[in-house]
Amino acid sequence: MLKVNAFESEQIATLDAARQRLVERRQRLLGPAYQLFYDQPLHLVRGRGAEVFDSVGRAYLDLYNNVPSVGHCHPHVVAAMASQAGELNIHTRYLHEGILDYAERLLATLPEMPAHVMFTCTGSEANDLALRIARDHSGGTGVIVTRYAYHGITMAIAELSPSMGEYVPVAGDARLVDAPLHRPQRPEQVGAQFAAQVRAALADMRRHGIRPAALLVDTLFTSDGVFADPPGFLAEAAAAVREAGGLFIADEVQPGFGRTGSHFWGFQRHGLVPDLVTLGKPMGNGHPLAGVICQPHLVERFGQCAAYFNTFGGNPVAAAVGLAVLEVIEAEGLQANAARVGALLQAGLGSLAARYPQLGEVRGAGLFIGVDVLDDEGRADTRGARRLVNALRDEGVLIGASGPASNVLKIRPPLCLSAAQGERFLEALDAVLARS
Ligand code: PMP
Repeated sequence: MLKVNAFESEQIATLDAARQRLVERRQRLLGPAYQLFYDQPLHLVRGRGAEVFDSVGRAYLDLYNNVPSVGHCHPHVVAAMASQAGELNIHTRYLHEGILDYAERLLATLPEMPAHVMFTCTGSEANDLALRIARDHSGGTGVIVTRYAYHGITMAIAELSPSMGEYVPVAGDARLVDAPLHRPQRPEQVGAQFAAQVRAALADMRRHGIRPAALLVDTLFTSDGVFADPPGFLAEAAAAVREAGGLFIADEVQPGFGRTGSHFWGFQRHGLVPDLVTLGKPMGNGHPLAGVICQPHLVERFGQCAAYFNTFGGNPVAAAVGLAVLEVIEAEGLQANAARVGALLQAGLGSLAARYPQLGEVRGAGLFIGVDVLDDEGRADTRGARRLVNALRDEGVLIGASGPASNVLKIRPPLCLSAAQGERFLEALDAVLARS
C-alpha cells in the first residue's frame, strides 16, 4: 500500500533539471524508505482552502488530503497556533486551561460516551496507546483487523497493518478478516457476514490459547478499498468481540471530524458506542495532534499503574490548534458541506460509471469516496487506476488510489471543497476517461 502511485527512481530522467536535483537530494538525505507520489512528482510551495500551488504557480485542486481538513493553512487555525506559540508552549505536567477547554469541547462531540481523552502526536501513537489499554483491561493480547488494514507505524501497530505488505510480519496473535462484502445481494448480509468472520477469528484464537484484546477497525475501511454501507453493519461484529471479552476500537483517523457528512464520527453511522476511539490526521489540520478517547473504567487501572506522559502530545499550542479546528468545522458548517458536496460527487461519479465501463462501484460517505477501476473483463485494474490518477494530476486534480489491488480511486478532499470545485473534478475525470 505504501507504494501506491509511487514515483519510481527509473523515471528520474523524465523530470526537468530542477526536480531531478530535488529528487536526488532527497534520496541522498532521507534514504530509500521515502516515497513520492505520481510519475511526475509535485513540488508544492503553498496551499489555500482546497487548492495547492506548485513552484511555478500552477494550482491543483486537492481531492486527496484529509489532513488539512478545514482547508490548507486556514487563517483561524494559523492565528490560534501563532498566538499560543507566542505566549507559552509547555507539556501536560502543568495546569493549563487551554488543554482542558479543548478536551471539553472535543468530548462534547461524543454525547453518547462518558469519556476521557489522552493526547498523542500521531495516529500510530494513538492506536498503540489504545492497544496497550485494551490489553491491560481485557487481559488478552489477540487483535482482529481487516486483511488490508492500515493502522500505523509503531512496532506493535505495524504488525496489525497487513497492507504494509509481506515484508512486515503480522503479529502471531492477530487474526485477519476480509473487508465487508462487495456488491452484496442484500445489504443485511454485510453485517452478518462480517460478524461471522469475527466470530470465526475469535474461535480460532480460543483454539490457539489466545485471549482476545480487541477488534480494531477503520470505520470507513480506507485501505481495504472504502466500505461505508449499509450504516449499522459493524454493530454485530463489535458485539461479538465484547461477548468474548475483547474491546471494540474505532480507528477514526480517516472518518472522524465530520468527513462522513451525516455524522461527526464514523462509528456513529453504525449506531455504535466504541470502547476506545483513536483520532489523528484532521484533528490538527496539519499540526501533529492525535489522541485516544476511552471510556473511564477502561483506563482506571492502567492510569494508576502505568501512568501516561507524552512530551508533545496535547501541549497548549496543539490544544489551541485543535480547538480552532473544531470552531471552524462548526462556524463554516463543514460537516453539512461534506454531506452536500459528497452527495453531488457520488451522483456525478455514478453517472460517469454508467457511461464508462472502466468505472465500477462507487462507495463512500460524505467526502470520502472510493470508485473501483475495472478492466474489460470487469477485474480490478491496477494499471488503469494508476493511469487515471496520473492523468488527473496532469489536469490539475489530485486524488489517490487504495485497496488490495490499488485499483480504487480514493477521493478525500478537505471538507471545504465547494460544489463548483466538485464539478471541476467531475469534468476533469470525464475528459480523462474520454481519452483513455
Ligand atoms: N489509522 C488510519 C486508519 C490511518 O489511515 C493512518 C494514517 N494513514 C493511521 C492510523 C496512522 O496515522 P499517523 O500516520 O498519524 O501515524
